[in-house]
Amino acid sequence: MAQEQLALLGGEKSVESDSDIFAWPIVTEQHEQAVLDVVRARKMSGIEITKEFEKRYARMLGRKYGLAYNNGTAAILGALYALGVGPGDEVICPSITYWASVAQAYTLSATPVFADIDPDTLCIDPRDIEHRITPRTRAIVVVHYASMPAEMDAIMKIARAHNLKVLEDASHAHGALYKGQQVGTFGEAAAFSLMTGKALAIGEAGILFTDDRAVYERAILFGHYIRHDEITLDELKPFVGLPSGAAKHRMHQLSSAFGLVQLELYPKQMAEIDKAMNYFCDLLEDTAGIRPMRPAKDTNTTKGGWYYPHFKYLTEELGGLSLSRFCQAVGAEGSICNPGCNKPLHRHPLFTEQDVYGHGRPTRIAFLDDSAKIEQYAQPLPVAESIVRRVFEVPWFKHHEPEAIEEHANAYRKVIENYQSLLPGDTEKEADTGGYSSFFTSSKNT
Ligand SMILES: *Cc1c(COP(=O)(O)O)cnc(C)c1O
Repeated sequence: MAQEQLALLGGEKSVESDSDIFAWPIVTEQHEQAVLDVVRARKMSGIEITKEFEKRYARMLGRKYGLAYNNGTAAILGALYALGVGPGDEVICPSITYWASVAQAYTLSATPVFADIDPDTLCIDPRDIEHRITPRTRAIVVVHYASMPAEMDAIMKIARAHNLKVLEDASHAHGALYKGQQVGTFGEAAAFSLMTGKALAIGEAGILFTDDRAVYERAILFGHYIRHDEITLDELKPFVGLPSGAAKHRMHQLSSAFGLVQLELYPKQMAEIDKAMNYFCDLLEDTAGIRPMRPAKDTNTTKGGWYYPHFKYLTEELGGLSLSRFCQAVGAEGSICNPGCNKPLHRHPLFTEQDVYGHGRPTRIAFLDDSAKIEQYAQPLPVAESIVRRVFEVPWFKHHEPEAIEEHANAYRKVIENYQSLLPGDTEKEADTGGYSSFFTSSKNT
């Protein structure tokens, strides 16, 4: 193939089409009507539509109880409390995730313990869990990261062997299957963010699922005081009336009304996204320097709505070209290529030094006995620390429009075929990639 001038170096752009292929969520008249109905009935703060939303979503997922929240962060806080996480407990969580997978442990006087990730799934590495378990360990938070299901067989086996609770943070993976089973149905509890950037997007909202009545009721006691009439357990009854967590976690009914419509439309949208994304991956499957990240074929493991899709980057196949410069070049072609993923949490000062509440020592160890040292909890995690230079976010297509998808794939191909022209002037070798929030760095994708 003849050498082409890359757009970054003054050539023509590869992507000409300007479609709504990334717009998300897809807002229909049905959504608008549902929201208007709530506004006109002045039911924004009610709970009857929300309860209907919970019921339908729980049925779709195949779980007994759904409890809706004002956001995913609150759902995870409620879930951790409901699972019994409390003072001095440790909660194991992958370092590569959004902070709200585990930072709420502080609120419960508990200590997050970070584990490394598997570079092939970007999810917690089951081989890095067991040696972190101590007598204080109470729970494992599993994140199905970037829509890839975590290795649930191995993780559940470890959890059972050590009598630990598993909370699935499925905020990236609505509708994804692990060996044919929906994510969010493995652990004692699961939480999903439903905020506007996510695959099942209904506004600022979240939801907790469980099959355990006690978990459901404890979560209600903690942050849903107007639903205390649902509490049946004798040990909780004396405390009804006021929220144990001093928290008000109710979902806005504009979200639940929007959500009822979205639940109906999502399975079909998810099927189309899956087709579009697999097509894009197929087009780039055998390209040097990059590797699509998707579940192995014939495993009945899927990425559901493909939230925050990533590819691997192999700099050694492109003459050492930095990921940052590679992504700049693809971006200049008119496609989407965001270097990195979430930054490792275990390196952030919130988890290495900050004394949030004035305990006189880092909050991370403030709830442990005096002999605890921050160094024990601040060890390196090699994969988590290097992964931001080895993966990048690709376009998240919401429609299967082959021509548009081919333009984006061509943008990648063009950069890869002409990578040598990018080597002079590549000063981005150690550039800081990734961030602490995916939504605001990848807004071109939504
Ligand atoms: C978005 C997200 C959350 C928090 O959800 P919000 O609805 O934004 O509060 C938690 N965990 C992960 C992995 C997320 O991506």
